[in-house]
Amino acid sequence: PAPEPQPTIPRVKLVLLGDSGVGKSCLVLRYVRRQFDPQSQVTVGAAFMSHSVHLPDGSTVKFEIWDTAGQERYASLAPLYYRGAAAAAIVYDITNPDSFQKAKHWVGELKKNAGDNIVIVLVGNKSDLVENRVISIEDGEELASQHSMLFAETSAKTAAGVSTVFELIAQKFASPAA
Ligand code: GDP
Ligand code: MG
Repeated sequence: PAPEPQPTIPRVKLVLLGDSGVGKSCLVLRYVRRQFDPQSQVTVGAAFMSHSVHLPDGSTVKFEIWDTAGQERYASLAPLYYRGAAAAAIVYDITNPDSFQKAKHWVGELKKNAGDNIVIVLVGNKSDLVENRVISIEDGEELASQHSMLFAETSAKTAAGVSTVFELIAQKFASPAA
């Protein structure tokens, strides 16, 4: 039989933003390699990973995932980093109120400087640390809805919610299956 025509696969530049230590690198590692390394910090320095998401409807989206190797401390580098990004994941740590404030800062920064059409997902990570939770799910949902962002809570440690984050974004870019 003749091969089916292959649709072009959308490529999406996805940047990870958020305070140092919230778990950005662990989230990428969990998603792309299905691993969690509690001593990750330095070893996960890979700044760029490519990964395809296959959605239940049969469509595929190819992510180019940009993770900072610690440069999140240098605000002046940020515009270079998110330039041309079609999507951003703003990550905070549900046990760390400062990281939630920082997430609000990133929302403002993206709304001001990134394209109007950028797809943003707000991610509350470390949901496994139940005893230490400071930021409620409702707090996260409220911030997300105020700024038309997607929202998910995750644990890079247990993998809870991690694939949801990437699938939520991918759905925004998938060409509908024929
Ligand atoms: P980044 O600076 O945002 O890239 O943060 P990292 O990915 O390097 O993670 C910072 C620290 O948080 C590391 O010690 C990780 O082991 C820990 N960590 C990351 N994600 C989770 C999580 O979901 N649960 C728990 N308990 N620890 C996490
Ligand atoms: Mg990191």
